[in-house]
Amino acid sequence: MNVSDSEVVVSILEKEGYSLTENQSEADLIFVNTCSIRDHAEKRVRNRMQEFKHLKTKKPNLKIGVLGCMAERLKTTLLEEEKFVDMVVGPDAYRDLPNLIKETEDGRQMANVVLSLEETYADITPVRLDKNGVSGFISIMRGCDNYCSYCVVPYTRGHERSRDPESILAEAQDMLDKGYKEVTLLGQNVNSFNWKDGGLKVGFSDLMKMVAALSPDLRVRFATSHPKDISDELIETIAATRNICNSIHLPVQSGSTSCLKRMKRVYSREWYLNRISKIKELIPDCGLSTDIICGFSGETDEEHQHTLSLMKEVSYDYAFMFKYSERPDTFAANKMPDDVPEDLKGARLQEVIAVQQASSLHNNKQDIGKVFEVLVENVSKRSTEQMSGRTQQNKVMVFNRMETKIGDYIMVKCTDCTAATLLGEIV
Ligand code: SAH
Ligand code: SF4
Repeated sequence: MNVSDSEVVVSILEKEGYSLTENQSEADLIFVNTCSIRDHAEKRVRNRMQEFKHLKTKKPNLKIGVLGCMAERLKTTLLEEEKFVDMVVGPDAYRDLPNLIKETEDGRQMANVVLSLEETYADITPVRLDKNGVSGFISIMRGCDNYCSYCVVPYTRGHERSRDPESILAEAQDMLDKGYKEVTLLGQNVNSFNWKDGGLKVGFSDLMKMVAALSPDLRVRFATSHPKDISDELIETIAATRNICNSIHLPVQSGSTSCLKRMKRVYSREWYLNRISKIKELIPDCGLSTDIICGFSGETDEEHQHTLSLMKEVSYDYAFMFKYSERPDTFAANKMPDDVPEDLKGARLQEVIAVQQASSLHNNKQDIGKVFEVLVENVSKRSTEQMSGRTQQNKVMVFNRMETKIGDYIMVKCTDCTAATLLGEIV
Protein backbone atom coordinates (compact mmCIF):
# COMPACT_ATOMS: atom_id res chain seq x y z
CA MET A 1 0.00 0.00 0.00
CA ASN A 2 2.83 2.38 0.85
CA VAL A 3 4.67 1.59 -2.39
CA SER A 4 1.46 2.34 -4.25
CA ASP A 5 1.02 5.63 -2.36
CA SER A 6 4.64 6.58 -3.03
CA GLU A 7 3.92 6.10 -6.75
CA VAL A 8 1.13 8.69 -6.45
CA VAL A 9 3.47 11.07 -4.59
CA VAL A 10 6.17 10.75 -7.26
CA SER A 11 3.58 11.49 -9.93
CA ILE A 12 2.41 14.65 -8.11
CA LEU A 13 6.01 15.84 -7.66
CA GLU A 14 7.11 15.09 -11.23
CA LYS A 15 4.40 17.49 -12.42
CA GLU A 16 6.16 20.14 -10.29
CA GLY A 17 9.46 19.50 -12.07
CA TYR A 18 11.04 17.16 -9.51
CA SER A 19 12.67 13.91 -10.57
CA LEU A 20 13.40 10.79 -8.60
CA THR A 21 16.97 9.96 -7.59
CA GLU A 22 18.34 6.63 -6.43
CA ASN A 23 21.11 8.50 -4.66
CA GLN A 24 20.17 9.87 -1.25
CA SER A 25 23.06 12.35 -1.05
CA GLU A 26 21.92 13.97 -4.32
CA ALA A 27 18.37 14.67 -3.08
CA ASP A 28 16.97 18.16 -2.37
CA LEU A 29 13.86 16.63 -0.87
CA ILE A 30 13.50 13.36 1.04
CA PHE A 31 10.17 11.84 1.97
CA VAL A 32 9.82 8.83 4.20
CA ASN A 33 6.53 7.02 3.73
CA THR A 34 5.72 5.48 7.08
CA CYS A 35 3.82 2.60 8.67
CA SER A 36 2.27 2.55 12.15
CA ILE A 37 0.89 -0.97 12.18
CA ARG A 38 3.31 -2.18 14.88
CA ASP A 39 5.69 -0.38 17.20
CA HIS A 40 8.59 -2.09 15.43
CA ALA A 41 7.65 -0.38 12.13
CA GLU A 42 7.67 3.03 13.82
CA LYS A 43 11.03 2.33 15.50
CA ARG A 44 12.57 1.52 12.14
CA VAL A 45 11.27 4.80 10.72
CA ARG A 46 12.76 6.74 13.65
CA ASN A 47 16.15 5.08 13.08
CA ARG A 48 16.05 5.80 9.39
CA MET A 49 15.20 9.42 10.10
CA GLN A 50 18.45 9.83 12.05
CA GLU A 51 20.28 9.19 8.76
CA PHE A 52 18.35 12.04 7.14
CA LYS A 53 19.04 14.30 10.10
CA HIS A 54 22.73 13.66 9.57
CA LEU A 55 22.45 14.43 5.85
CA LYS A 56 20.75 17.71 6.69
CA THR A 57 23.64 18.89 8.86
CA LYS A 58 25.78 18.67 5.71
CA LYS A 59 23.16 20.15 3.39
CA PRO A 60 21.01 22.70 5.26
CA ASN A 61 18.65 23.34 2.31
CA LEU A 62 17.58 19.71 2.24
CA LYS A 63 13.86 19.36 3.04
CA ILE A 64 12.61 16.31 4.91
CA GLY A 65 9.02 15.15 5.01
CA VAL A 66 7.26 12.37 6.89
CA LEU A 67 4.33 10.89 4.97
CA GLY A 68 1.69 8.27 5.70
CA CYS A 69 0.38 6.60 8.81
CA MET A 70 2.96 7.82 11.34
CA ALA A 71 2.43 11.37 10.14
CA GLU A 72 -1.31 10.92 10.61
CA ARG A 73 -0.98 9.29 14.03
CA LEU A 74 1.50 11.74 15.57
CA LYS A 75 0.53 14.90 13.67
CA THR A 76 2.38 18.03 14.83
CA THR A 77 3.87 16.17 17.82
CA LEU A 78 6.28 14.68 15.31
CA LEU A 79 7.39 18.19 14.27
CA GLU A 80 8.02 19.05 17.92
CA GLU A 81 9.92 15.83 18.61
CA GLU A 82 12.02 15.88 15.46
CA LYS A 83 12.98 19.48 14.82
CA PHE A 84 14.78 18.70 11.55
CA VAL A 85 11.53 17.45 9.94
CA ASP A 86 10.04 20.10 7.63
CA MET A 87 6.71 18.48 6.72
CA VAL A 88 4.25 16.02 8.18
CA VAL A 89 1.70 14.87 5.58
CA GLY A 90 -1.13 12.38 6.11
CA PRO A 91 -2.23 9.78 3.51
CA ASP A 92 -5.10 11.90 2.15
CA ALA A 93 -3.13 15.14 1.77
CA TYR A 94 -0.62 14.36 -0.98
CA ARG A 95 -2.21 16.77 -3.47
CA ASP A 96 -1.17 19.53 -1.08
CA LEU A 97 2.54 18.58 -1.26
CA PRO A 98 3.62 21.25 -3.82
CA ASN A 99 2.03 23.93 -1.67
CA LEU A 100 3.53 22.55 1.56
CA ILE A 101 7.00 22.39 0.00
CA LYS A 102 6.73 26.07 -0.97
CA GLU A 103 5.61 27.04 2.52
CA THR A 104 8.69 25.42 4.07
CA GLU A 105 11.08 27.46 1.93
CA ASP A 106 11.54 30.08 4.63
CA GLY A 107 12.30 27.43 7.25
CA ARG A 108 8.78 26.94 8.64
CA GLN A 109 7.56 23.47 9.60
CA MET A 110 4.27 22.50 7.91
CA ALA A 111 1.62 19.83 8.50
CA ASN A 112 -1.45 18.63 6.63
CA VAL A 113 -3.08 15.61 8.24
CA VAL A 114 -6.69 16.21 7.16
CA LEU A 115 -8.41 12.92 6.36
CA SER A 116 -10.94 12.83 3.54
CA LEU A 117 -14.18 10.98 2.87
CA GLU A 118 -13.62 11.07 -0.91
CA GLU A 119 -9.93 11.14 -1.82
CA THR A 120 -8.87 8.13 -3.91
CA TYR A 121 -6.31 9.87 -6.18
CA ALA A 122 -8.40 8.42 -9.01
CA ASP A 123 -7.22 10.88 -11.67
CA ILE A 124 -3.50 10.56 -10.89
CA THR A 125 -1.52 8.13 -13.02
CA PRO A 126 1.10 6.72 -10.64
CA VAL A 127 4.76 6.65 -11.66
CA ARG A 128 5.58 2.94 -11.34
CA LEU A 129 8.37 2.22 -8.89
CA ASP A 130 8.62 -1.53 -9.51
CA LYS A 131 11.80 -2.59 -11.20
CA ASN A 132 10.67 -5.32 -13.58
CA GLY A 133 7.85 -3.59 -15.52
CA VAL A 134 5.81 -6.79 -15.30
CA SER A 135 3.69 -6.57 -12.18
CA GLY A 136 2.28 -3.49 -10.52
CA PHE A 137 -0.32 -2.30 -8.03
CA ILE A 138 -3.60 -0.49 -8.51
CA SER A 139 -5.12 1.03 -5.41
CA ILE A 140 -8.91 0.55 -5.67
CA MET A 141 -10.14 1.61 -2.27
CA ARG A 142 -8.79 3.42 0.77
CA GLY A 143 -9.39 3.45 4.51
CA CYS A 144 -11.17 1.04 6.80
CA ASP A 145 -14.36 1.13 8.87
CA ASN A 146 -13.89 -2.16 10.72
CA TYR A 147 -12.15 -0.97 13.88
CA CYS A 148 -10.65 -4.31 14.89
CA SER A 149 -9.77 -3.64 18.51
CA TYR A 150 -5.96 -3.95 18.06
CA CYS A 151 -5.63 -1.98 14.84
CA VAL A 152 -4.49 1.58 14.15
CA VAL A 153 -5.48 1.65 10.45
CA PRO A 154 -8.96 3.23 10.78
CA TYR A 155 -7.36 6.10 12.72
CA THR A 156 -4.45 6.66 10.33
CA ARG A 157 -6.16 6.01 7.00
CA GLY A 158 -9.66 7.23 7.68
CA HIS A 159 -13.01 5.98 6.43
CA GLU A 160 -13.47 3.36 3.77
CA ARG A 161 -14.11 4.67 0.25
CA SER A 162 -14.08 3.01 -3.16
CA ARG A 163 -12.54 4.41 -6.30
CA ASP A 164 -14.41 5.07 -9.54
CA PRO A 165 -14.25 1.80 -11.55
CA GLU A 166 -13.74 3.66 -14.82
CA SER A 167 -10.51 5.18 -13.53
CA ILE A 168 -9.37 1.74 -12.29
CA LEU A 169 -9.99 0.21 -15.72
CA ALA A 170 -8.19 3.10 -17.43
CA GLU A 171 -5.18 2.58 -15.15
CA ALA A 172 -5.12 -1.17 -15.83
CA GLN A 173 -5.35 -0.52 -19.59
CA ASP A 174 -2.50 1.96 -19.35
CA MET A 175 -0.39 -0.69 -17.60
CA LEU A 176 -1.24 -3.24 -20.28
CA ASP A 177 -0.22 -0.72 -22.96
CA LYS A 178 3.11 -0.30 -21.14
CA GLY A 179 3.71 -4.06 -21.23
CA TYR A 180 2.59 -5.06 -17.73
CA LYS A 181 1.37 -8.64 -17.32
CA GLU A 182 0.03 -8.59 -13.78
CA VAL A 183 -1.97 -6.16 -11.66
CA THR A 184 -2.67 -6.49 -7.95
CA LEU A 185 -5.81 -4.65 -6.87
CA LEU A 186 -5.07 -3.11 -3.49
CA GLY A 187 -7.05 -2.00 -0.48
CA GLN A 188 -7.16 -2.45 3.28
CA ASN A 189 -10.28 -4.55 2.72
CA VAL A 190 -10.14 -4.92 -0.99
CA ASN A 191 -13.18 -7.17 -1.21
CA SER A 192 -15.36 -4.60 0.55
CA PHE A 193 -15.06 -2.57 -2.67
CA ASN A 194 -18.48 -1.14 -3.36
CA TRP A 195 -18.93 1.67 -5.87
CA LYS A 196 -22.26 3.46 -6.10
CA ASP A 197 -23.13 6.26 -8.46
CA GLY A 198 -26.83 7.03 -8.71
CA GLY A 199 -28.47 3.72 -9.67
CA LEU A 200 -25.16 2.16 -10.79
CA LYS A 201 -23.51 -0.31 -8.40
CA VAL A 202 -20.21 -2.11 -8.93
CA GLY A 203 -19.13 -4.70 -6.33
CA PHE A 204 -15.73 -6.34 -6.01
CA SER A 205 -16.61 -9.42 -8.09
CA ASP A 206 -17.94 -7.18 -10.89
CA LEU A 207 -14.77 -5.11 -10.80
CA MET A 208 -12.51 -8.18 -10.92
CA LYS A 209 -14.40 -9.52 -13.95
CA MET A 210 -14.08 -6.14 -15.69
CA VAL A 211 -10.32 -5.91 -15.08
CA ALA A 212 -9.75 -9.54 -16.09
CA ALA A 213 -11.73 -8.99 -19.31
CA LEU A 214 -9.24 -6.34 -20.50
CA SER A 215 -6.88 -9.06 -21.72
CA PRO A 216 -6.44 -12.82 -21.24
CA ASP A 217 -2.71 -12.09 -20.86
CA LEU A 218 -3.21 -9.94 -17.78
CA ARG A 219 -3.00 -11.72 -14.43
CA VAL A 220 -5.24 -10.23 -11.76
CA ARG A 221 -4.51 -10.52 -8.04
CA PHE A 222 -5.94 -8.76 -5.00
CA ALA A 223 -4.87 -7.93 -1.45
CA THR A 224 -5.92 -7.84 1.32
CA SER A 225 -9.31 -9.41 1.79
CA HIS A 226 -11.34 -9.49 4.98
CA PRO A 227 -12.93 -12.89 5.66
CA LYS A 228 -16.35 -11.27 6.26
CA ASP A 229 -16.53 -10.28 2.58
CA ILE A 230 -15.33 -13.51 0.95
CA SER A 231 -18.69 -14.25 -0.64
CA ASP A 232 -19.65 -17.32 -2.66
CA GLU A 233 -20.00 -14.99 -5.63
CA LEU A 234 -16.38 -13.87 -5.27
CA ILE A 235 -15.07 -17.45 -4.93
CA GLU A 236 -17.14 -18.47 -7.98
CA THR A 237 -15.75 -15.52 -9.94
CA ILE A 238 -12.16 -16.51 -9.15
CA ALA A 239 -12.92 -20.13 -10.03
CA ALA A 240 -14.56 -19.22 -13.33
CA THR A 241 -12.08 -16.62 -14.59
CA ARG A 242 -8.84 -18.11 -15.88
CA ASN A 243 -6.66 -15.02 -15.49
CA ILE A 244 -7.80 -14.16 -11.96
CA CYS A 245 -5.06 -15.93 -10.03
CA ASN A 246 -6.00 -18.89 -7.87
CA SER A 247 -4.56 -17.38 -4.75
CA ILE A 248 -6.30 -15.85 -1.75
CA HIS A 249 -4.75 -14.04 1.19
CA LEU A 250 -7.28 -14.33 4.00
CA PRO A 251 -6.00 -13.00 7.34
CA VAL A 252 -7.49 -15.02 10.20
CA GLN A 253 -5.52 -13.38 13.08
CA SER A 254 -6.55 -16.08 15.59
CA GLY A 255 -8.06 -19.57 15.47
CA SER A 256 -10.04 -19.01 18.66
CA THR A 257 -13.60 -17.70 18.53
CA SER A 258 -13.32 -16.05 21.95
CA CYS A 259 -10.10 -14.28 20.97
CA LEU A 260 -11.61 -13.23 17.61
CA LYS A 261 -14.49 -11.73 19.56
CA ARG A 262 -12.12 -9.62 21.68
CA MET A 263 -10.35 -8.62 18.47
CA LYS A 264 -13.76 -7.49 17.06
CA ARG A 265 -13.17 -9.52 13.92
CA VAL A 266 -16.93 -10.24 13.47
CA TYR A 267 -16.48 -13.92 12.46
CA SER A 268 -15.98 -17.14 14.38
CA ARG A 269 -13.49 -19.96 13.85
CA GLU A 270 -16.28 -22.09 12.34
CA TRP A 271 -17.42 -19.36 9.99
CA TYR A 272 -13.85 -18.82 8.77
CA LEU A 273 -13.29 -22.56 8.26
CA ASN A 274 -16.53 -22.72 6.31
CA ARG A 275 -15.16 -20.05 3.92
CA ILE A 276 -11.93 -22.05 3.54
CA SER A 277 -13.97 -25.21 2.74
CA LYS A 278 -15.88 -23.31 0.09
CA ILE A 279 -12.64 -22.08 -1.47
CA LYS A 280 -11.13 -25.58 -1.45
CA GLU A 281 -14.32 -27.02 -2.94
CA LEU A 282 -14.58 -24.54 -5.84
CA ILE A 283 -10.85 -23.87 -6.41
CA PRO A 284 -9.02 -27.07 -5.39
CA ASP A 285 -5.59 -25.72 -6.39
CA CYS A 286 -6.03 -22.34 -4.68
CA GLY A 287 -2.96 -20.86 -2.95
CA LEU A 288 -3.87 -19.81 0.59
CA SER A 289 -2.09 -17.44 2.92
CA THR A 290 -2.92 -15.58 6.12
CA ASP A 291 -1.88 -13.20 8.90
CA ILE A 292 -1.62 -14.32 12.54
CA ILE A 293 -1.25 -12.25 15.71
CA CYS A 294 0.29 -14.01 18.74
CA GLY A 295 -0.29 -12.94 22.32
CA PHE A 296 -3.24 -10.59 21.94
CA SER A 297 -4.74 -9.23 25.17
CA GLY A 298 -6.03 -12.05 27.37
CA GLU A 299 -4.88 -14.83 24.99
CA THR A 300 -4.92 -18.08 26.97
CA ASP A 301 -2.86 -21.14 26.18
CA GLU A 302 -6.05 -22.86 25.02
CA GLU A 303 -6.80 -20.02 22.59
CA HIS A 304 -3.25 -20.22 21.28
CA GLN A 305 -3.70 -23.99 20.75
CA HIS A 306 -6.83 -23.18 18.72
CA THR A 307 -4.71 -21.00 16.45
CA LEU A 308 -2.20 -23.82 15.93
CA SER A 309 -4.97 -26.34 15.19
CA LEU A 310 -6.68 -23.99 12.72
CA MET A 311 -3.37 -23.45 10.91
CA LYS A 312 -2.87 -27.22 10.68
CA GLU A 313 -6.42 -27.73 9.44
CA VAL A 314 -6.17 -25.10 6.69
CA SER A 315 -2.51 -25.87 5.83
CA TYR A 316 -1.62 -22.42 4.49
CA ASP A 317 1.08 -21.99 1.86
CA TYR A 318 2.36 -18.87 3.54
CA ALA A 319 1.71 -16.67 6.58
CA PHE A 320 2.71 -13.30 7.97
CA MET A 321 3.09 -13.87 11.70
CA PHE A 322 3.40 -11.17 14.36
CA LYS A 323 3.58 -10.62 18.08
CA TYR A 324 0.76 -8.39 19.28
CA SER A 325 1.94 -4.81 19.51
CA GLU A 326 -0.30 -2.46 21.47
CA ARG A 327 -1.11 0.65 19.43
CA PRO A 328 -1.94 3.86 21.28
CA ASP A 329 -5.58 5.03 21.24
CA THR A 330 -7.02 1.83 19.77
CA PHE A 331 -9.93 0.14 21.55
CA ALA A 332 -7.60 -2.55 22.89
CA ALA A 333 -5.09 -0.01 24.18
CA ASN A 334 -7.84 1.85 26.01
CA LYS A 335 -9.82 -1.08 27.37
CA MET A 336 -7.75 -4.28 27.32
CA PRO A 337 -4.46 -4.86 29.13
CA ASP A 338 -1.43 -5.94 27.07
CA ASP A 339 -1.07 -8.80 29.54
CA VAL A 340 0.67 -11.64 27.70
CA PRO A 341 4.32 -11.39 28.81
CA GLU A 342 6.79 -10.59 26.04
CA ASP A 343 8.67 -13.91 26.34
CA LEU A 344 5.40 -15.87 26.14
CA LYS A 345 4.36 -13.90 23.03
CA GLY A 346 7.75 -14.81 21.56
CA ALA A 347 7.41 -18.49 22.46
CA ARG A 348 3.92 -18.66 20.92
CA LEU A 349 5.15 -16.91 17.80
CA GLN A 350 7.91 -19.51 17.45
CA GLU A 351 5.34 -22.32 17.67
CA VAL A 352 3.17 -20.61 15.05
CA ILE A 353 6.18 -20.19 12.75
CA ALA A 354 7.12 -23.86 13.19
CA VAL A 355 3.61 -25.02 12.21
CA GLN A 356 3.71 -22.72 9.18
CA GLN A 357 7.14 -23.94 8.06
CA ALA A 358 5.89 -27.52 8.19
CA SER A 359 2.74 -26.66 6.18
CA SER A 360 4.70 -24.71 3.56
CA LEU A 361 7.10 -27.59 3.05
CA HIS A 362 4.31 -30.18 3.02
CA ASN A 363 2.27 -28.21 0.46
CA ASN A 364 5.29 -27.55 -1.75
CA LYS A 365 6.17 -31.26 -1.76
CA GLN A 366 2.68 -31.99 -3.08
CA ASP A 367 3.54 -29.77 -6.07
CA ILE A 368 6.49 -31.93 -7.19
CA GLY A 369 5.66 -33.51 -10.54
CA LYS A 370 2.93 -30.96 -11.37
CA VAL A 371 3.15 -28.43 -14.21
CA PHE A 372 2.46 -24.74 -13.50
CA GLU A 373 1.94 -21.61 -15.57
CA VAL A 374 4.68 -19.21 -14.45
CA LEU A 375 5.01 -15.50 -15.21
CA VAL A 376 8.74 -14.79 -15.49
CA GLU A 377 9.59 -11.85 -13.24
CA ASN A 378 13.28 -11.76 -12.30
CA VAL A 379 16.75 -13.05 -12.92
CA SER A 380 17.44 -15.37 -9.98
CA LYS A 381 19.41 -13.85 -7.11
CA ARG A 382 21.72 -16.87 -6.95
CA SER A 383 22.73 -17.30 -10.58
CA THR A 384 22.24 -15.34 -13.80
CA GLU A 385 21.64 -18.70 -15.52
CA GLN A 386 18.40 -19.01 -13.58
CA MET A 387 15.19 -17.03 -13.62
CA SER A 388 12.33 -16.83 -11.18
CA GLY A 389 8.64 -16.14 -11.48
CA ARG A 390 5.42 -16.95 -9.71
CA THR A 391 2.75 -19.54 -10.21
CA GLN A 392 -0.92 -18.49 -10.11
CA GLN A 393 -0.88 -19.74 -6.51
CA ASN A 394 1.71 -17.03 -5.74
CA LYS A 395 4.57 -19.47 -5.16
CA VAL A 396 8.04 -18.54 -6.36
CA MET A 397 9.43 -20.96 -8.97
CA VAL A 398 13.13 -20.98 -9.93
CA PHE A 399 14.25 -22.61 -13.21
CA ASN A 400 17.09 -22.59 -15.77
CA ARG A 401 16.61 -19.58 -17.96
CA MET A 402 16.95 -21.16 -21.46
CA GLU A 403 15.47 -18.63 -23.93
CA THR A 404 12.98 -17.03 -21.54
CA LYS A 405 12.64 -13.30 -20.98
CA ILE A 406 11.12 -11.31 -18.14
CA GLY A 407 7.38 -10.97 -18.86
CA ASP A 408 7.00 -14.36 -20.61
CA TYR A 409 4.40 -16.90 -19.59
CA ILE A 410 5.92 -20.37 -19.54
CA MET A 411 4.93 -23.83 -18.36
CA VAL A 412 7.26 -25.25 -15.70
CA LYS A 413 7.29 -28.70 -14.14
CA CYS A 414 8.12 -28.68 -10.44
CA THR A 415 10.99 -31.09 -9.71
CA ASP A 416 12.06 -30.13 -6.20
CA CYS A 417 11.31 -27.63 -3.44
CA THR A 418 12.21 -26.00 -0.17
CA ALA A 419 9.67 -24.55 2.28
CA ALA A 420 10.01 -21.19 0.51
CA THR A 421 10.57 -21.99 -3.18
CA LEU A 422 9.66 -24.41 -5.94
CA LEU A 423 12.40 -25.54 -8.32
CA GLY A 424 11.46 -26.66 -11.81
CA GLU A 425 12.19 -27.31 -15.46
CA ILE A 426 10.58 -25.60 -18.43
CA VAL A 427 8.37 -28.04 -20.35
N1 SAH B 1 -6.99 -5.15 6.54
C1 SAH B 1 -6.28 -6.36 6.69
C2 SAH B 1 -4.97 -6.23 7.46
C3 SAH B 1 -4.16 -5.00 7.40
S1 SAH B 1 -2.88 -4.84 8.61
C4 SAH B 1 -7.16 -7.35 7.44
O1 SAH B 1 -7.99 -6.96 8.21
O2 SAH B 1 -6.96 -8.52 7.31
C5 SAH B 1 -1.84 -6.22 8.25
C6 SAH B 1 -1.69 -7.17 9.39
O3 SAH B 1 -0.98 -6.60 10.47
C7 SAH B 1 -2.99 -7.64 10.04
O4 SAH B 1 -3.62 -8.63 9.31
C8 SAH B 1 -2.53 -8.12 11.39
O5 SAH B 1 -2.18 -9.48 11.36
C9 SAH B 1 -1.30 -7.28 11.65
N2 SAH B 1 -1.56 -6.30 12.71
C10 SAH B 1 -2.42 -5.26 12.69
N3 SAH B 1 -2.40 -4.62 13.87
C11 SAH B 1 -1.50 -5.26 14.65
C12 SAH B 1 -1.04 -5.07 15.99
N4 SAH B 1 -1.50 -4.10 16.74
N5 SAH B 1 -0.09 -5.93 16.46
C13 SAH B 1 0.38 -6.94 15.69
N6 SAH B 1 -0.02 -7.16 14.44
C14 SAH B 1 -0.96 -6.33 13.91
FE1 SF4 C 1 -7.12 -3.10 10.70
FE2 SF4 C 1 -9.21 -4.68 11.00
FE3 SF4 C 1 -9.28 -2.68 9.22
FE4 SF4 C 1 -7.75 -4.83 8.77
S1 SF4 C 1 -9.99 -4.80 8.93
S2 SF4 C 1 -7.17 -2.68 8.51
S3 SF4 C 1 -7.06 -5.35 10.80
S4 SF4 C 1 -9.17 -2.48 11.43
